[in-house]
Amino acid sequence: MTDRAHLTVGQLAGYVDQTVPSTERAAIESHLAECDDCRREMIEVQRLTRSLPRRGWLKWTPLGVGAAAVVLLYLFASRGDESSPSVVHRRSGDASPQGPVQLAPIGEVARADTLRWSSPVRLDRYRARLLDGEGRALFAKETTDTFLVMPDSVVLRRNVPYYWKVEGRIGWDRWIPSPITMFTVRGPPL
Ligand SMILES: [Zn+2]
Repeated sequence: MTDRAHLTVGQLAGYVDQTVPSTERAAIESHLAECDDCRREMIEVQRLTRSLPRRGWLKWTPLGVGAAAVVLLYLFASRGDESSPSVVHRRSGDASPQGPVQLAPIGEVARADTLRWSSPVRLDRYRARLLDGEGRALFAKETTDTFLVMPDSVVLRRNVPYYWKVEGRIGWDRWIPSPITMFTVRGPPL
């Protein structure tokens, strides 16, 4: 293992986004060529950015929601410690099992009052988190079901992006996450 620092989330997202300068790109590629951890991380970043609905993605890009923002948001949601953005050690040596898969809401929806998901493997507990477009947590709760009804305190505005994810517990304090999913409630402003 080299003693060079691993790539940051910002670098990986910029690489996926193709927004890093070509000089930095070369350095990133040479690190990726020799670092399994960062390759895995990059694949995760690509998966996250692709998980966004394409129409929604294009629509919100002018608002500055690029791949980097989405990935940072994801890390906020999954770890809540993005105050040190250069530290990217969400890595583990073993192959990660598949996390829960969101069913609804995804993309543009007419209404959203319940978060629903399924799980490829049986998990005994889930925790879901809903974020607004700035990454602020609106709602977070644990359940043994595969859905959560949003409390009345959550009032969703129309035509703005929200993000949510759910994690499933597979061991003592070990959780596997879904991707982060964006949705918007379409319609005239309330
Ligand atoms: Zn690395």
